[in-house]
Amino acid sequence: MKAGRYYFDYAASTPVDPEVEKIMRPYWHKIFGNPGALHFFGQEASAAVFKARKSVADILGCKYDELIFTGSATEANNLALRGVVKNIKRQAENSKQPKIIISSIEHDSVLDTAKDLEKEGVEITYLPVSKNGIVDLKKLKELLDERTVLVSVMYANNEVGTVQPIAEISKIIGNFRNLSAYPLFHCDAVQAFNYLDCNVNDLGVDLMTLSSQKIYGPKGVGLLYIRKNPEAPFIKPLITGGGQEFGFRSGTENVPGIAGFAKAMEISEKKRGKEAKRLSELQNYFLAKLKKSIPSARLNGDGRQRLPNNINIYFQNTEAQDLIIKLDLAGFAVSPGAACSARVCKPSHVLKAMGHSDERATHSARITLGRETNKKEIDLLLSALKRLAK
Ligand code: PLP
Repeated sequence: MKAGRYYFDYAASTPVDPEVEKIMRPYWHKIFGNPGALHFFGQEASAAVFKARKSVADILGCKYDELIFTGSATEANNLALRGVVKNIKRQAENSKQPKIIISSIEHDSVLDTAKDLEKEGVEITYLPVSKNGIVDLKKLKELLDERTVLVSVMYANNEVGTVQPIAEISKIIGNFRNLSAYPLFHCDAVQAFNYLDCNVNDLGVDLMTLSSQKIYGPKGVGLLYIRKNPEAPFIKPLITGGGQEFGFRSGTENVPGIAGFAKAMEISEKKRGKEAKRLSELQNYFLAKLKKSIPSARLNGDGRQRLPNNINIYFQNTEAQDLIIKLDLAGFAVSPGAACSARVCKPSHVLKAMGHSDERATHSARITLGRETNKKEIDLLLSALKRLAK
């Protein structure tokens, strides 16, 4: 990290682990062939992709051919939602209007994709959350009907870090399904992987999204797990061409990126338990000290059902945008809990969905911790906050 600069935005992106960087190096110059080519150079690259795919499959508890590497988590979420709808619409016997249920606190890559699908005639229903940012399971049972083709609920929220009861949701959907394969269950587990077990069978998901750049891997790689259906695939591809990724996502594979992603996953899984405990202690330390230094500050989202690295705070009488700029000038990288463009912050849709006011939704900041965060950095941030928040 640069001297005098302190990074508290690990939910946005993580630095690449040096071991990951090392494993990627041969794929720039030495092993550079097109994995689709029949010759030695191609086969060498193809073997690297296969090795990475197999290692990821072992970690997630699935088969290697249930994994589709994409260019980002955004692409994987698009493939999940649009791919399922495209598949359903191609089935002649399905004349009913398809319905998708998504939680009201999803990332924009799910939310905006759903809104776009709405323009194509898909009904989108929003699953509400409690004041603590946890989805309402009773409401889910009420919303499920025979037109529901997909339910999408994220594992951990990117703004407030609340962790959703994924296995319970999967049980509810499974009970409703009876003998049908639908509704499918998609889970965006991008923010969860570093701290929570993401075994697809334990979670009971049919589709799951992950991202490399959030787990100390390179940018430009995401993945979608698609449970195999013995009869016919659950999704149709969005990108057609050379038929790579089992026909679900054409385009020459990002060999260095995929190799790096698999290594990042392996390291993150190994570090998971210890790192979750360490960050949870730092999180508690921060909150206890904040309570004394700024008593009016409030934690957004459930205090227990949350990621160990997420601290989302409401600072009364302090515009998040102003605070973030002042903190940045003082050397601290923190994120507003809202989408900002052209220096104007829209109230966070997550905090609004949790029932908070526009004022709270524009006066909250997200502080996310990671592998390089330590107590000293936390103390420095706390002093800066005491100085800069009103
Ligand atoms: N899903 C979640 C929960 C995220 O936090 C993010 C990124 O912040 C994404 C999806 C999209 O990731 P990317 O921008 O890498 O495609």
